[in-house]
Amino acid sequence: MDNKKYTIEKNKKYFEKFAKIPASKKIIFVPQCLRNIKKCKAKELGSYYLCVECGGCKIAKIVKMAKENGFMGLRILKGGSIVKKMVKELNPGAILGVACYFEGTQGIKICEKNKIPVYFYPLSKDGCEDTDVDLDNLTKLIKF
Ligand code: SF4
Repeated sequence: MDNKKYTIEKNKKYFEKFAKIPASKKIIFVPQCLRNIKKCKAKELGSYYLCVECGGCKIAKIVKMAKENGFMGLRILKGGSIVKKMVKELNPGAILGVACYFEGTQGIKICEKNKIPVYFYPLSKDGCEDTDVDLDNLTKLIKF
């Protein structure tokens, strides 16, 4: 099964469980390729970054929405495999993961092993840098 089909199936499987977890126990993971690397002032903390909301990319808007809706927080990950480390550190109740299909598949597999409901939201433009995400549907998911 290709990564896109895999993520669609897993989203169907876990959406109900994901939706039942309160926002305060949900964390958002986004990929580092969404950052505006020319302007980014995010704090680098080993395998992830913390956005300081400089406004240089869409992550600042996602952080703002996460705060307004009472989420645990947001981490900018350096790769899907880091989800394992983050799960150990943060022990979230559910994960909303933004990524490309490849990284998303890796992340979902880690969540399944750790029995954490996950909802995957694909990038609208992927790549190694200057990627993009559609904020309209992501906003609906965060406010859900
Ligand atoms: S909004 Fe956050 S992630 Fe985006 S460029 Fe600024 S500090 Fe970096």
